[in-house]
Amino acid sequence: MANLDVTVKPLPTPTPESAPYWDGLRDGRLLMQRCTRCARLQFYPRSICRHCGATDLDWEEMAGTGTIYSYTVIHRAPFAAFKGDVPYAYAVVELDEGPRVVSTIETDDLDALAIGMRVTAVFDAVTDEITLLRFRPS
Ligand code: ZN
Repeated sequence: MANLDVTVKPLPTPTPESAPYWDGLRDGRLLMQRCTRCARLQFYPRSICRHCGATDLDWEEMAGTGTIYSYTVIHRAPFAAFKGDVPYAYAVVELDEGPRVVSTIETDDLDALAIGMRVTAVFDAVTDEITLLRFRPS
């Protein structure tokens, strides 16, 4: 296991299963896997359908809208690289299509956040290769 440099924010490492997801975010598109057998969506990306076990999955673009399912406000940085970010909102967002994703909510008014609030995807290009999915109030 590589040493963790706590002064640098970690970045995801795309895998063969998740590369289309990361490529989509880089292009400003939120893609999720849909099973061609049972037609259900799933997140996170993987090589088999978590509902029925099928291995034939397609990628489908989501609208990028949803609601805050749950959230918390982080006041203590998990490690040094995040010290400049606190306080910030960390949330479970339920997409309108159904899948839930974990991300941050970009807002200047943390007190206004609420469960059920409508949010819209934000594509945050943190490097040339990696774009992170975040949300902001709609
Ligand atoms: Zn399935």
